[in-house]
Amino acid sequence: KHTAELIAAGEVVERPASVVKELLENAIDAGASQITVSIESGGVRLIEISDNGTGIEAKYIPTAFIRHATSKIRTEDDLNSIHTLGFRGEALASIASVARVELLTRTEADECASLYRIEGGEEQPIEPGARGVGTTIRVRDLFFNTPARMKFLKKDSSEGTFVADLVGHVALSHPEVSFKFLREGKLQYVTPGDGQLRSAAYAVLGREFSRDLMEVDNREGVYRVWGLITQPRSCRASRSMQYFYINGRYVRNRTMMAGMEMAFKGTMMQGKFPGGILLLEMPADLVDVNVHPAKTEVRFARENDIFDLVYHAVKLALSQPGT
Ligand code: ADP
Ligand code: MG
Repeated sequence: KHTAELIAAGEVVERPASVVKELLENAIDAGASQITVSIESGGVRLIEISDNGTGIEAKYIPTAFIRHATSKIRTEDDLNSIHTLGFRGEALASIASVARVELLTRTEADECASLYRIEGGEEQPIEPGARGVGTTIRVRDLFFNTPARMKFLKKDSSEGTFVADLVGHVALSHPEVSFKFLREGKLQYVTPGDGQLRSAAYAVLGREFSRDLMEVDNREGVYRVWGLITQPRSCRASRSMQYFYINGRYVRNRTMMAGMEMAFKGTMMQGKFPGGILLLEMPADLVDVNVHPAKTEVRFARENDIFDLVYHAVKLALSQPGT
């Protein structure tokens, strides 16, 4: 049983950034409007995430850490099909099996908070604690009990950068939530949570990059693409400043990138690339995001539609007066 848990945990928990991704999704699912993320030693030593969401009722805490699908994994075939199952209901269990986890949570109905500890899957009785409504989860010493996995981690500063990128991607796609991010004790940014993509970009990507961003918004049939792009002559822009989302999920995608860069063709200085944040909204059945749940690649049913959509949207924005 233990082995199966570790195998499944390895699928969802690859590095500190994958832990942060799951915990942020939970905080957002819980309706949080403020989320604080803090990491130490690149997140290997500590990941702490606080939210002002609904909290978890004391009697449901242990259940939240129980894996729902592990018992189904008996054969190698099952293991291979695991990524088509997705990892619903498995994140907390997976994380708790490979780290020391401390959860402090309180719902509106609770008189005091509950403190729960689980280390390498070994849980301790719930104790009373103190905090306002919401949840704080601390994940310490990731992979302390699985040295083989630990070996696959890069140096702390690189892991910290993966986390920073991930938090940035999530913060940009949720401008309605205020994100505060601390790295090695230093405050990196606070997004205002005012619902504006522009203000989230300003906080996460900085003033220099965000100053002259232009708006994009275009609908074609079942698709919509919107967001912000850099000015044609921006010297701050680069490929590393390209952020693509599909139905709210951060992705890496050559088609969207090609559509955007083609539209900029002839307007950029030699060897320069545009930057931007483009959010694509489309019917879920025309995109396969489940190539791997922990990865960011996607496949489109109609590749050309997406290229044309993005190309036209960016062309249109570039043709507006004042550019
Ligand atoms: P899933 O999110 O797929 O349900 P998880 O293992 O990530 O699985 O979380 C298990 C459950 O724990 C969630 O369904 C939710 O009820 C509860 N939970 C986890 N994190 C939070 C949080 N930050 N605030 C409120 N509830 C949470
Ligand atoms: Mg979850």
